[in-house]
Amino acid sequence: MEYPWKRREFLKAGTAFGAAWAAKPGGFFPSTTPPGGQAGSCKAVASGNGIRATEKAMALLKEGADPLEAAIAGVNIVEDDPEDMSVGYGGLPNEDGEVELDASVMHGPTHASGAVAALKHIKNPSQVAKLVMERTNHCLLVGEGALKFALAYGFVKENLLTDRAREAWLRWKENLSDRDNWLPPASKTLPPELQAYVRTYGTINGLALDEKGNLAGVTTTSGLSWKRAGRVGDSPIIGAGLYVDNDIGAAGSTGFGEANILNVASFQVVLFMGQGMSPEQACLEALKRVADKAKRHPRLTGPDGRPNFGMNYYALNKKGEFGSASMTGPSSYAVHDGAKNALREAAYLFKR
Ligand code: ASP
Repeated sequence: MEYPWKRREFLKAGTAFGAAWAAKPGGFFPSTTPPGGQAGSCKAVASGNGIRATEKAMALLKEGADPLEAAIAGVNIVEDDPEDMSVGYGGLPNEDGEVELDASVMHGPTHASGAVAALKHIKNPSQVAKLVMERTNHCLLVGEGALKFALAYGFVKENLLTDRAREAWLRWKENLSDRDNWLPPASKTLPPELQAYVRTYGTINGLALDEKGNLAGVTTTSGLSWKRAGRVGDSPIIGAGLYVDNDIGAAGSTGFGEANILNVASFQVVLFMGQGMSPEQACLEALKRVADKAKRHPRLTGPDGRPNFGMNYYALNKKGEFGSASMTGPSSYAVHDGAKNALREAAYLFKR
């Protein structure tokens, strides 16, 4: 989960990002530990909150599991964890205090995908997305229809709103205005970083490569906190939050979904890898385009002309090379390279 930020702080920080960009004209900050990769070996890659996911995915890959099953089993750990408030059970709710989840999966060998959006009450939307892929003629089910589908296949309806997430939502609601009837009490139960919750991003993306060179990916999220009921982000949109081409590579994203949808950027990352870029270069190239396009939207741009939102891409190619890049860094992502499971430094466009 990314840390919460306040709009004010972000605007302040924007000056520093601008300076960083200016200091490196036309450039970016590559990771100082360029990743390698051995042909034929299994790999598991995930966003920074996915170190347990890559561990699990690798264990399954080594047993010969399908890469999609491995990737999903990995992210299920985070979906189930109430401490990660960006995904599944314990995810931060929408404006009405209801948890609505988005997820997509894509399976390289069959070039098939499935997704669900604005799904309530089911804590593993990634598993429902896989069922959409396997048991329907569709790519995306939303809202009530997605819930009906999940229930029909035996998923259990649960209350996904934990007390911690509910309290964070209440703090947001109570602090919206000093001209309404909500009074903000001091919270005794929330940690300091949640007391000022304004809006957060957070998601988990997981990518996997098996030893035969087959790729798959999954992206799952509770989306933007306090989003409008029914808002769908990039995570369940194939091409935006996730894309896999079994001949080239796989890519996924976390960050401000609307900016990502506008650029279909996971697809771009895969395309760039297909043109010969390394996974890290491909992520950076996609970020540059997202940043350039954002300049046309004043609400997405800080006073220094830089994007005022977070965005991260993760990529894994067919050869087993991997990389990641963030709009602002430093930041990290999780990789199990077959020998070692560790957080690695991602490249970035703007210095935090
Ligand atoms: N991409 C997600 C969304 O916009 C949120 C995130 O990744 O932080 O719903």
